[in-house]
Amino acid sequence: MKVLLVEPQKSRKYHTPYPPLGLLKLATYHRQRGDFVKLVNGISDDGFDPDIIYITSLFTYAWEPVHQVVRFYSNKYRKAKVIVGGIYASLCSDHLKQTFGDRIETHKGLIPEIEELLPDYSLIPEWKASILFSSRGCIRRCPFCSVPQLEPEFEAKKSIRHLIYPGHKKVILWDNNILGSPYWENIFDELEDSGLEIDFNQGLDARLLTEETALRLRRLRIPIVRLAYDSKGIKKSLKKAIGLLKDVGIDGRRIVVYCLYGYLDMPEDFLERIRDLITWGVVAYPMRYQPLEPCNKDSYVSPNWTREWLEMIAKARRVIGYGGAFPPYEGLERKISNARTFEEAFELRPPKT
Ligand code: SF4
Repeated sequence: MKVLLVEPQKSRKYHTPYPPLGLLKLATYHRQRGDFVKLVNGISDDGFDPDIIYITSLFTYAWEPVHQVVRFYSNKYRKAKVIVGGIYASLCSDHLKQTFGDRIETHKGLIPEIEELLPDYSLIPEWKASILFSSRGCIRRCPFCSVPQLEPEFEAKKSIRHLIYPGHKKVILWDNNILGSPYWENIFDELEDSGLEIDFNQGLDARLLTEETALRLRRLRIPIVRLAYDSKGIKKSLKKAIGLLKDVGIDGRRIVVYCLYGYLDMPEDFLERIRDLITWGVVAYPMRYQPLEPCNKDSYVSPNWTREWLEMIAKARRVIGYGGAFPPYEGLERKISNARTFEEAFELRPPKT
């Protein structure tokens, strides 16, 4: 059987620095069955003539590039079975079906048969990091998050050694909440034994961070610790977690805290959270809320916000931030701490003439 794996064309609309993990696992699955596998990005017209086509998708706002490849491949290879999976296909299968009807199949959620397979990284030899999940789902149910819908059950693995590709220099964990796993210590042992650089890419749950976790984190080669401050409700636990990390010697500039805004919060509430983070000496990384339904990126404006206020944050991130974040630099700390209002904190002075 000939299997075509399609990642939509990478572009500003379909942006990810990571390879399509699900497709790479499907490659392993089909190769183990003796099938011939090809991976492409966007439109590729070389007469491969597949029997089956898998197309992946990303966030719901990145649906147009997905439609582009579905349209092309389903028309070009009329006899091939077309299966569309990934986040957008799982959350918005009706939206896809409205356009493509029965010509395609949508796959919602995970494919259990490929969960334990090592992705076929030989298809992307330039990529040097093993991406893996030691757990799926999350023990929490935050209303703005797609995880409870995509992975409703929390399931944890006891071991991840088999998912680290020989020769890779780094391990990226995409766990939604690894500290919620009953096997986290086992997983940390394996990560430490690997001697590789570790990235808990989706962040750690500050509410579950203890003295022991902090000490175990320090033993890993982990350049950045990521946390989240999505609502003021976790202020106390977050402050404590940051203190624990600093106590074991992790510098505040290596602690990045994601800060959701434009959801149920008010601008002053966002300012308070950014002020807390900068005062605590860590890096604040604003994350604008995006609805789970298909719509263009950054088009949603919550009733508590205005387009102008949202634009102020975007501009401030570009002009006075660094890499989109607000690090605890002295000047920035002064500006944010002294500001009496949201506008004062994020307004930019006109350039000197
Ligand atoms: S803790 Fe994180 S992953 Fe879990 S539901 Fe909340 S936002 Fe989603």
